Amino acid sequence: MRDKIRQFMAGRYGTDALNQFLSVVAIVLLLISLVTRWGIFTWLGLAALVYCYFRTFSRNISRRTEENYRFYNLKERVTGKFQGVKRRWDDRKTYRYFRCPQCHQMLRVPKGRGRIEISCPRCGTQFIRKS
Ligand SMILES: [Zn+2]
Repeated sequence: MRDKIRQFMAGRYGTDALNQFLSVVAIVLLLISLVTRWGIFTWLGLAALVYCYFRTFSRNISRRTEENYRFYNLKERVTGKFQGVKRRWDDRKTYRYFRCPQCHQMLRVPKGRGRIEISCPRCGTQFIRKS
């Protein structure tokens, strides 16, 4: 039986971080559908599960690897954004945040210094804000 499974999985992609994420999403969606009895969540949960299994048994390994890579990038962006928001909240009493009008880079300046000239370290634009 073990050999049969190994034979079947030979040359197939297997599991990765995206698949783990998909199975968690599937379970959450199915739980929501149980609680709310909304059919749409059942279908979304099943779709996530089917996609997860499709990826596990897929023979197109390079394509799946690329999907996983894109998933990692997206995850990094989302967690990065979340950490940025959290940091802004944590030091909201000591710092103010401004966006550079030229390149939209986020800049942090100490609070309570009155009107100050801020120069953007990325593009060198100078602008005046009340801190
Ligand atoms: Zn700038």
